[in-house]
This record gives sequence, C-alpha cells and structure tokens, in this order.
Amino acid sequence: MQWQMGEVTSVRRETHRAKTITIRLPAWQAHLPGQHYDIRLTAEDGYQAQRSYSVASPPARQGSIDLTVDHIADGEVSPYLVEGVTVGDSLEVRGPIGGYFVWTPAEHRRPLLLVGGGSGVVPLMAMLRHRKTAGLANPAQLVFSVRTPADVLYAQELEGLAREDPRFGLHLTFTRKAPEGWTGYQRRIDEPMLRQLLDTFPQPPLSFVCGPTLLVEAAANALLNAGLPPETIRTEHFGGASSG
Ligand SMILES: Cc1cc2nc3c(=O)[nH]c(=O)nc-3n(C[C@H](O)[C@H](O)[C@H](O)COP(=O)(O)OP(=O)(O)OC[C@H]3O[C@@H](n4cnc5c(N)ncnc54)[C@H](O)[C@@H]3O)c2cc1C
Repeated sequence: MQWQMGEVTSVRRETHRAKTITIRLPAWQAHLPGQHYDIRLTAEDGYQAQRSYSVASPPARQGSIDLTVDHIADGEVSPYLVEGVTVGDSLEVRGPIGGYFVWTPAEHRRPLLLVGGGSGVVPLMAMLRHRKTAGLANPAQLVFSVRTPADVLYAQELEGLAREDPRFGLHLTFTRKAPEGWTGYQRRIDEPMLRQLLDTFPQPPLSFVCGPTLLVEAAANALLNAGLPPETIRTEHFGGASSG
C-alpha cells in the first residue's frame, strides 16, 4: 500500500482531549466502516514515528477522511496531531487498512451491538454514520464507556441519532463522574449490562468492541459468556490499559 501526502482541510475540537482532523487525499478510495489509516511523521533528522487512526467519516464522503485523535499525555505522536496540526499542513498517510474489524455490505441487515471505550468509539461512529447515510434500518445499540461527561466524543451527534432513530439506542456509562441527576450506568462495562442490551435484540447481533485492552477483553469475554458465537464478536485494541 502506497503512502500519500494528504492536506489538512479542517481541524475541529471534539472534547478537551480530542480533535477531528479532515485530510484531503489525492488518491482517496472508499473505506469500509471500521478500517483505519496509518499516519507517518518524519522529523528533520529523518526520525520517523507511525501510528494507526480509525476513519470516523462514512465511506460516502468522497475525497477526504476524518480522523479523531485523543491526546495521550505522555504520547509521542498524538500530542502533535491534537495540538500541532493546523489547516494547510501536509500529513503522510496510507490506507484504508484492515479486513477483520470491518462492517461489510453483506452484513448490513444484521443487528449491531457496538461497544466502545474512549477513542474506541471512532470506528463505531463510522459504522453509525454509514448506517445513517446509507439509510439502513438494522437495529443498533451503542454502549460507550467514558470517564466523565466532558469525555463523550460526538456527544451531540450521538444524542441526535438516538432521538431521531427508534432503532438506535445510546447507552453511556460514566466510570469516574456522571452528570448531575444521571440515572443511567455508572460503572465499567460488564456482563449484566451487556446481557440487558442483548435481550433487546430480535436476533443475536454482530458485535464490534473497540477501546483500551482491559475494556475490550472484559466486554468480549462477557459477550462470549452470554452465549454469542465467537465468530460474531470482532475486537480492536487501541493500546493503553485503562478502561474508558
Ligand atoms: C487499528 C488502530 C486504530 C486506532 N485508532 C485510533 C483513533 O481513531 N483515535 C485515537 O486517538 N487513537 C487510535 N489508536 C491509537 C493510536 O494508534 C496511538 O496508539 C495513540 O494515539 C497513542 O500514540 P502516541 O504516540 O501518542 O502514544 P505512545 O508514545 O505510543 O504511548 C505513550 C503511552 O501511552 C500509552 N497508550 C498508547 N495508546 C493509548 C491509548 N489509546 N489510550 C491510553 N494509553 C495509550 C502507551 O502504553 C504508553 O504508555 C488506534 C490504534 C490502532 C491499533
């Protein structure tokens, strides 16, 4: 797969820690929701660092992609992408990459259970955006684990989707601090939580689980214990150990 130089056409703040960068690509090609791009940074002395970022935008958006990057405090690459990149900059990227953690057209009718923690929601957002732009009507539930209300990526868009679409359910869980008066989940994603959601599906869903390693392992094990066939559970680890 070839590297290409993309041009940054927009930078938007999403939360106090995260920004979405829109990159125009001369050799754009449609991705499958769930796929990612690699970004390669090269210093003046030739030192290179490379990291993966999931595509947040739907495949219907031609010519450019959105990547949402969470600032990891002691990280090598993400602080530069969040704080250093501005409109007009060039970024070296390659993609789309990934053939496993993807939602394929053949699966569009199956119910979807999306489980995300922190920036793990990014590829799940691409799936939800694709579901909306393609006019798909399959039932979908998103369980999204975050530390505090200030950490909810795409908050307004997700709440809007949940309001407009009776076949989509949004289930936030706050692991450190919930909003005033919150009556929803206030704990890490666990088996009783996932079993409760599984009961709402007309048939066993296809599950996508993405985020920090501990969250992904706990959620995937819980889904297996709940009786879902292993081949219906797809996982992606973003690195970092902490849960949402
Ligand atoms: C397929 C794939 C898709 C990804 N998509 C996204 C995305 O859409 N948005 C996004 O923000 N990140 C995403 N990531 C994570 C991203 O690739 C980097 O790992 C992340 O930005 C940290 O890079 P860094 O150079 O800043 O930190 P590093 O210098 O690599 O690491 C610094 C420290 O932070 C820890 N750390 C690394 N990653 C994380 C993390 N995600 N959470 C908490 N601690 C961490 C490391 O263990 C280390 O202790 C994805 C990873 C993969 C494998």
